[in-house]
Amino acid sequence: MKIITCDIDGVLNDYPLCWIKYVNNELSADFLTKEEIKSTIGHSDYDNIKDKYRWSEFKANLKCNRNMVNVLQLLKKQGYLIMIVTSRPIGNKMKYPLLEDLTLNWLKKNRIPCDKLYYKFDDALFNELEENEIVLHIDDEIDQGYAFSNKQIPTLVIGPDKKAQLSNNLFIVSISDCIYTYIKSLLNDKGVK
Ligand SMILES: [Mg+2]
Repeated sequence: MKIITCDIDGVLNDYPLCWIKYVNNELSADFLTKEEIKSTIGHSDYDNIKDKYRWSEFKANLKCNRNMVNVLQLLKKQGYLIMIVTSRPIGNKMKYPLLEDLTLNWLKKNRIPCDKLYYKFDDALFNELEENEIVLHIDDEIDQGYAFSNKQIPTLVIGPDKKAQLSNNLFIVSISDCIYTYIKSLLNDKGVK
């Protein structure tokens, strides 16, 4: 089967804006970036408030990026397996026992196709490659995109930047571009039927 893997935060929602908004509400602050939050409150407080955010109603009810959800629904209809991947620590059941369920509920509530949910750096994900083929990965962070493109997986990084090709398999596309058309032509160029 042909698999498309898609990140959650920053692709299917408006992270980091939602996170900055949460922190500003909690601390009555007016931070503009997550880097500014980190450097002002320090790593320990940053991690503590991030934990609180992970459990919050605010996070459970985050708005999805409807445009990207529509793209995944169209791809699903065409027979691709959609695997949602995240760097949220869903595998750490001791510390975050409910995080995986919270994430699955959010995906379901927003009708986001999800054949399987994986921690992004779980080797089990790449073991899927033995029987299946990951034909595309979608992310919002270039560093994390490289983890996939370095494995020869065509990778699309969606963000504020203009279109660019960073390597043989790593492509940048702006959130305002027509992502579905771009994906179809990329799959076509890569010979994916
Ligand atoms: Mg992300």
